[in-house]
Amino acid sequence: MTVPTHGELAGRVALVTGSTDGIGLAVARALAAQGCAVMLNGFGEPQAIASLCEELAVTHGVAVDHTSADLMQEDQASGLVRRVLDRFGQLDILVNNAGTQHKGPIEEHPPHRWREVFALNLDAAFHTIRTALPSMRDTGWGRIVNIASVYGLAGGVDRSSYVASKHALVGLTKAVALETATTPITCNAVCPGDVSTRIFYRNAKLLAEFEQITRAEAQQRIAAANMPSGRVVSPEQVAAIVAFLCTEAAGEIRGAALPVDGAWLAR
Ligand code: NAD
Repeated sequence: MTVPTHGELAGRVALVTGSTDGIGLAVARALAAQGCAVMLNGFGEPQAIASLCEELAVTHGVAVDHTSADLMQEDQASGLVRRVLDRFGQLDILVNNAGTQHKGPIEEHPPHRWREVFALNLDAAFHTIRTALPSMRDTGWGRIVNIASVYGLAGGVDRSSYVASKHALVGLTKAVALETATTPITCNAVCPGDVSTRIFYRNAKLLAEFEQITRAEAQQRIAAANMPSGRVVSPEQVAAIVAFLCTEAAGEIRGAALPVDGAWLAR
């Protein structure tokens, strides 16, 4: 893999949805490290988000701003790209990362939760992509990366809305890749396995207390449940793939759904 050379994305502007924490924040950091201005999105304590914007801006010498648009709401998802264009004047990289899930058997899945999962995991990406593409076509360059999941490529028990919405997001990725195939705009999906975000560490802490084992043992046990590698993927590893997809070297990777999954899907 060609790692982006430092500053490869200088002069570009990125929108990363759901980027105040987890994978999205790691993606925002990776893009800023390549010289890209970033619009963060997501929830959190206002002072903490302001500090985050400042830290990213100072560390990487790029412009960073934040919008708390709730992408489960259609009007806010539809209006998000306009906010980026008003603030930065352009949008070159769109990373649809914000996502949610509901766990439980389908017979017990509340229909309103089904709609919420689809609203955030799929509809929000539809709205950001349809509103971002005209400006990418105008500038003649663009990168769209959708953060799907291994559950976008394989089934799973007790997460029907998540599996269905992530499969649909992979389908949307392919459709957009074909609509942009003759242009310098690419659209791809990244499909992580289990990633060591905050919830992973919280679950490992609970398991360690419950089973009276060390946290390291608990982390290993959780990772090994799904990942043949026996290790979870780090947010930074997912972010590095996203940053690579934004390079010129990746310009002919189109409509791909790239697993980052410790061989989960290889079985
Ligand atoms: P996270 O829960 O750690 O972070 C979610 C981010 O999205 C936060 O910034 C939060 O404020 C924001 N957010 C939540 N609801 C929002 C809304 N309605 N509108 C706008 N922003 C909102 O998430 P994560 O675990 O880093 O997951 C990020 C993406 O990666 C998701 O699409 C998820 O499905 C996918 N994914 C995660 C894992 C994993 O193991 N964590 C594995 C595969 C795929």
